[in-house]
Amino acid sequence: MVPRLGLVTLHCFIALKLNYDRIVRKIKYIVVHCTAGPQHQTLESVQAHWRSLGWRSPGYHYMITAGGTVLTIATEDLITNGVKGFNRESIHIAYFGGVDFSGKPIDNRTFAQKASLKKLLTELKKKYPTATIQGHRDFSPDLDGDGKIEFNEWIKYCPCFDAKEEYSDLS
Ligand SMILES: [Zn+2]
Repeated sequence: MVPRLGLVTLHCFIALKLNYDRIVRKIKYIVVHCTAGPQHQTLESVQAHWRSLGWRSPGYHYMITAGGTVLTIATEDLITNGVKGFNRESIHIAYFGGVDFSGKPIDNRTFAQKASLKKLLTELKKKYPTATIQGHRDFSPDLDGDGKIEFNEWIKYCPCFDAKEEYSDLS
């Protein structure tokens, strides 16, 4: 009986630990993304893309349509798939768009998207005051060690504008 009890205890411990990690997620980053797809792409097509990558969690917590509607994709206690290696401590937001008709990176946020994005970031920053607001590309390695993530160092263009600079007054 003893080993069995041990196993039960171990299972309980793992279950508690997983729950605990979820509930007390320490948010260090509020990350801005683009979907890198058409501005009027449907949520279903984005979700189909995530499934094709074999993801069990969504890519973001919130998504903002071209019309400025904020879609809640996952609650903030859940871990989503925005930036590999940083998801446990991040909240991810994406606007639909970020590429032109030929697939080239472009900041094509609509006025409505900009307004909703700023409102959502303001609310999140109030909730997580110590979190840093930055773009996906700001997670790139600082290759020359000058403290800035520059164009030639970006691993991705996402979110196709300087989120760190644009929302610096919220920090
Ligand atoms: Zn991204």
